[in-house]
Amino acid sequence: MMPADRRRRVPALAALLAAGLGVIAVTAQTVVTPPKNKYTPEQDVQLGKEAAAEVRQKYPVIADDQINAYLDRAGRALVAAAPANLNHPAFEYSFTPVNLKEINAFALPGGPMFVNRGMFDAAEVEGEVVGVMAHELAHVLLRHGTANATKAQKFQVGAVAGAIAGAIIGGGWGEAISQGSQFGLGAWLMKYSRDYEKQADLLGAQIMARAGFDPRDLARMFEAIERESKGKTPPQWLSSHPNPGNRVEYIRAEADKLTIGPRTNGSGFASAKTRFAAMPPPQSMADQARTGNGDSGGSGAPASVGTVGQPVPPPASQYKTARGGQLFQVSVPSNWVGINGNNAVKFVPQNAYGPYQGQSVFTHGVELGVARAASRDLSESTDAFINAIVRANPGLRVSGAQQPVRISQRSGVGTLLVGRSALGQTERVGVYTTLLADGSLFYYLTVSPQDDAQIYAPAFERVGTSIRLSDR
Ligand SMILES: [Zn+2]
Repeated sequence: MMPADRRRRVPALAALLAAGLGVIAVTAQTVVTPPKNKYTPEQDVQLGKEAAAEVRQKYPVIADDQINAYLDRAGRALVAAAPANLNHPAFEYSFTPVNLKEINAFALPGGPMFVNRGMFDAAEVEGEVVGVMAHELAHVLLRHGTANATKAQKFQVGAVAGAIAGAIIGGGWGEAISQGSQFGLGAWLMKYSRDYEKQADLLGAQIMARAGFDPRDLARMFEAIERESKGKTPPQWLSSHPNPGNRVEYIRAEADKLTIGPRTNGSGFASAKTRFAAMPPPQSMADQARTGNGDSGGSGAPASVGTVGQPVPPPASQYKTARGGQLFQVSVPSNWVGINGNNAVKFVPQNAYGPYQGQSVFTHGVELGVARAASRDLSESTDAFINAIVRANPGLRVSGAQQPVRISQRSGVGTLLVGRSALGQTERVGVYTTLLADGSLFYYLTVSPQDDAQIYAPAFERVGTSIRLSDR
């Protein structure tokens, strides 16, 4: 028995050694370790899903069988090439094209990925698009979104303090409103740190190589992006994925260490590009970024609801309940869309909000929010608030005295402002305010053209009486 056993063991040991050597050769690639994270992969999936629903509602996603199939195939090939220890079984991947012309792509926690058409238009070879997708996939695998949130607490304090100091709008409840769901989409579109960027570049390059693409194509795409960043409209992608420095160089150096595997996803890139060329021209987010209310580089609020200047439908007779974080509940016509701002929520009908001749315009609808009160006196604080509105909107004037009103069973005041809107119509703005338990000012603002006032007055009344504050 003994000799036979020994004979068998020797070749087995040799095989192990050979395999071991093989492994050593491959691990010359840079080891990328996920950062600290207090969330579970399942929470990544949940948070990413909520944000993805927001993206699908706000962005012009493309539903084209051929393009969708191509992106899906390319994405799945990358996922198959991902390191198994980072590819959590809970993850739910999806790959969605967006008809926007900026060179951009982004991924949300737990798997949803969105790729702008501009990325395809800018790419000369498939590896350039696949490379950026691999980079985005690496952010998902390394769970950089929730890792950011893990370390975000200390930054949030500073950000909120800054908002209060810099603007009249603010207050403790403002933050609570904008965080209606635990995180808005904007939280995931924030700038990644340079460390995270380098991790995503390196892991992305490794995944690319395993999926049969040359990581040097990713370096090439970055060169194209850098070239464009010297132009008038820097690619949006750079605002959330900053260059950690020597990006092109270290990706090339990593590529030198990697073996490029066989390609598993078929062709289809060229036909996807042709397909794009046959579609309506892509929209631009440039105007939206200029008029948006965020400074985070990738504000999640939609830049428009329909097209300003087109007919606005009357308020629906059906109402739906909406929440402003933990602060209030309100009923609004079912055909109005909610828009989360920093310290306020707007509800607007189709074609009533968006860019118009270079400025952000809001023609019909309501806004509920929190402002810093100038004093403990409601009337004084309201005057200060109205003055700030009038300063920001020179066409508006106060019309008549403050009137007593009830808001959520507490005393408030109402003020009417009249002016000329950006569209050249006479505009009526109602401002209703009351003090919150913490001393800040809660406001309910109604906006409509004079011509539509009769149609909108009953809706504004119904929305106003439905407000339920829960600050005490
Ligand atoms: Zn990145």
